[in-house]
Amino acid sequence: MNQIKNIAVYCGSSPGLDPYYMTAAYELGEYLGSNQIGLVYGGASVGLMGAVANGCLSKNGSVTGVLPKFLKKKEIEHAGLGQLILVESMHERKLKMFDLSDAFVVLPGGLGTMEEFFEVITWSQLGLHQKPIIIFNWLGFYNPLLTLMQNMVTSGFLKKENAALVQILETSKDLLQTIQNYSPSNTEKWLSEDNV
Ligand code: AMP
Repeated sequence: MNQIKNIAVYCGSSPGLDPYYMTAAYELGEYLGSNQIGLVYGGASVGLMGAVANGCLSKNGSVTGVLPKFLKKKEIEHAGLGQLILVESMHERKLKMFDLSDAFVVLPGGLGTMEEFFEVITWSQLGLHQKPIIIFNWLGFYNPLLTLMQNMVTSGFLKKENAALVQILETSKDLLQTIQNYSPSNTEKWLSEDNV
């Protein structure tokens, strides 16, 4: 069973068009705070990033932001965090977030979120870590990504067991149990079901 203290959340610095995204991100933050799980994230106050941090803070949760100095100059850092770690570069930020976290959660987002997701799953594929990786597929946002990954498998570019390193959830309530039971050798349901 995986013991979890801190979870890194990768998510959009934008709110998304459907209000559900902001609501669900806030609720995820509340869930983390209520369960005494520390949130590690990019440190911004905007978009889903701000929502998940505010949700966690509303339950007196521990929130650690890891922000590159050049973004702080743009004054978008979250002013109310328990801990704001300033780093020199985006590379340093990602490494710091990785080191601080026991698991990674991916919410809807844009290119920055995708970059973080693919880096962390690639590192897992290479055997550099075995930390759980979870995608929240709110409103089916990640269906196209899952279709692409399924296509990578069926086209012979991605091993099924590596695609299965990511697990898919719809709601926060199953998060801790999923993380505690996570095993890199599990074949995840989303791959075996014909969901593409
Ligand atoms: P995006 O999905 O393109 O909006 O990028 C969001 C992801 O990139 C987040 O998970 C952050 O870790 C990182 N990121 C993007 N914008 C910022 C920002 N203003 N401050 C800190 N991190 C950011």
